[in-house]
Amino acid sequence: MRVTVFSTKPYDRRFLHRASGEGLELQYSEARLSLDTARLAEGSTAICAFVNDDLSKPVLEYLTGMGVRLVALRSAGFNNVDLAAAEALGIAVARVPAYSPHAVAEHTMAIILALNRKIHRAYNRVREGNFALDGLLGFDLNGKTMGIVGTGKIGAVLARIASGFGCQLLGHDIRPNPECEALGMAYVGREELFRRSDIVSLNCPLTPDTRHMINAETLPVLKPGVMLINTSRGAVIDAQAAIAGLKDGTIGSLGLDVYEEEADLFFEDLSNEVLRDDVFARLLTFPNVLITGHQAFFTREALEAIAETTIGNIVKFRETGKPLHAVTVEYLAARN
Ligand code: NAD
Repeated sequence: MRVTVFSTKPYDRRFLHRASGEGLELQYSEARLSLDTARLAEGSTAICAFVNDDLSKPVLEYLTGMGVRLVALRSAGFNNVDLAAAEALGIAVARVPAYSPHAVAEHTMAIILALNRKIHRAYNRVREGNFALDGLLGFDLNGKTMGIVGTGKIGAVLARIASGFGCQLLGHDIRPNPECEALGMAYVGREELFRRSDIVSLNCPLTPDTRHMINAETLPVLKPGVMLINTSRGAVIDAQAAIAGLKDGTIGSLGLDVYEEEADLFFEDLSNEVLRDDVFARLLTFPNVLITGHQAFFTREALEAIAETTIGNIVKFRETGKPLHAVTVEYLAARN
């Protein structure tokens, strides 16, 4: 069975190759999946895709027209797939529901710590012989209130880590998590969480309800000077509104691992090119903004688990016509 694997980097190939077994022919492509590149899947029964691949209706139609029957995502999030179109076309969609919530939660805490204690700035200063402390003032995490929006697998691990730092925990979720309640997390409405939290961490999926959750209207609800962290999906924050909030001080600091328009930027070395995204360029000018390029998932353990589950999904589909971890419209409706 031939599988075209889109958006691959050397590390993807290494881990997938190790997890792959007999009878699977993995055809790797560096190309991001789009209507222009979908033809690369010619002759494949399955394609394997990542977070910024385009799985909208026209792309799915093109793929099914070529005989593709399975989309195996190497991610937990599936906001880039038109599930209704996939179902109508009879193409199965699979994902990796959990690989390492620790990877993402630990990276979230790394951003919080670095941003708070200005490690990114201190690193450069010390290398240049500047040992002045002005501008590096942080705050104790102990006793501060951390509000976590989305207390699923990642949010729960983050809550445990934050609890270890002595933070008070507030949570907002459409389904409270008993594991978080056991840590002393109080569940409140979204607005109350925004009003009371010193640090707000966004760990929910991107859905119509969470798209631009941070916007011009919700910004004034946040505690003035809040530390805002997004390691979920870029579009949960309206970046233009965040810039306005940084300019007027509503947002005290901003940590991002994801960005709404990241598809044209992240995962590539663009250091020799002109940055054309003015919103992103503006974000980079703030001393109190720390951005990583969608790397929260990037640990050895997570890549091993992603590769194993992805291969497991494909093999199961080959044997039974159904992947191990299918995502369907029905599944989505039951979750919401
Ligand atoms: P999960 O499904 O275990 O948890 C998500 C939680 O969000 C659930 O408890 C759900 O009830 C809640 N939720 C859904 N809609 C909500 C809403 N409107 N308001 C509040 N809460 C809501 O998922 P997870 O494994 O914890 O991952 C969370 C998200 O993190 C993923 O959807 C993905 O977008 C993102 N993610 C990012 C990276 C990265 O590298 N930056 C890696 C993995 C996942």
